[in-house]
Amino acid sequence: MYAMWAYHLENENRRNLSVTDLKEKYNELFYNNKFVLPRMTMVLTTRCTYRCKECIEMIPYLRKHEDVAKEEIFQDIDNLVSNIDECVFLELIGGEPFLYKDLDAVLAYVVKEDKIRNVAIVTNGTVTLSEEMLSMLKHEKLSVIVSDYGISDKPGTFVDKLREYGICVNVLYEQEWFSAGSCEKRNRGMEELRRQYDKCHAPWWCKTIYKGAMYACIRSIGLYDLGYIDEKQDLLEIRSNCREGIEEFFKRDWCEACDHCDWYTEDHRYCRAGEQVNSSES
Ligand code: SF4
Repeated sequence: MYAMWAYHLENENRRNLSVTDLKEKYNELFYNNKFVLPRMTMVLTTRCTYRCKECIEMIPYLRKHEDVAKEEIFQDIDNLVSNIDECVFLELIGGEPFLYKDLDAVLAYVVKEDKIRNVAIVTNGTVTLSEEMLSMLKHEKLSVIVSDYGISDKPGTFVDKLREYGICVNVLYEQEWFSAGSCEKRNRGMEELRRQYDKCHAPWWCKTIYKGAMYACIRSIGLYDLGYIDEKQDLLEIRSNCREGIEEFFKRDWCEACDHCDWYTEDHRYCRAGEQVNSSES
């Protein structure tokens, strides 16, 4: 199926493709008369067990940390599926999603939704899971993506437990991240912002849903929270019957958050994934 292939492309072969190739594939998704989202992320909570210095979501620096009400999550899922033909991969993220108190209810809700083909929980592997949760994660639609930053023994134990239960798990070791740099506005011109957005494949393939809105980039959420951007151009409120709005949102070729980020610029630098904020830096 085409959309599965698109997702496959993103994960395994996209480094071998030019941006033009990727965009051609991307456009086919829309002109096939089907609106298929290869990947969508959904924030369940902004609480986390870690305080990663270079977190693209800026979790350690947010003004407050909270769980999204499960009723709001259900509504967002209903709104999403009523406007699309299919979502190939939905990633439930945080913060740390295993801290989310109603994760069992959300998982039970999403696995029943036929238009959502696969669901992954993206975690740092530091939370001890109950027997009930482990049993639930064996569902064929579910998988767990674990980032092991090498700063704790907990993810190793966590992964062993998932494997013991036969749960589908992918582990990311020894990652390097791009540093997004400070939140300050860089005052780049529109052409430069478009080029940056274009090079950063992430927003072309994947948007983020958080509290009733779809965000162009996950960084936009933190930038709104911290008051660095105030115009609502990086988000689209989702409700039933806004399919055209979502399609247009996916076709946008820039976002304000790029003017507060160094990814894919000449100034970009790499950083160690999972390096923690010192208490004096928060
Ligand atoms: S702000 Fe722009 S460059 Fe940075 S991660 Fe988001 S889309 Fe990519």
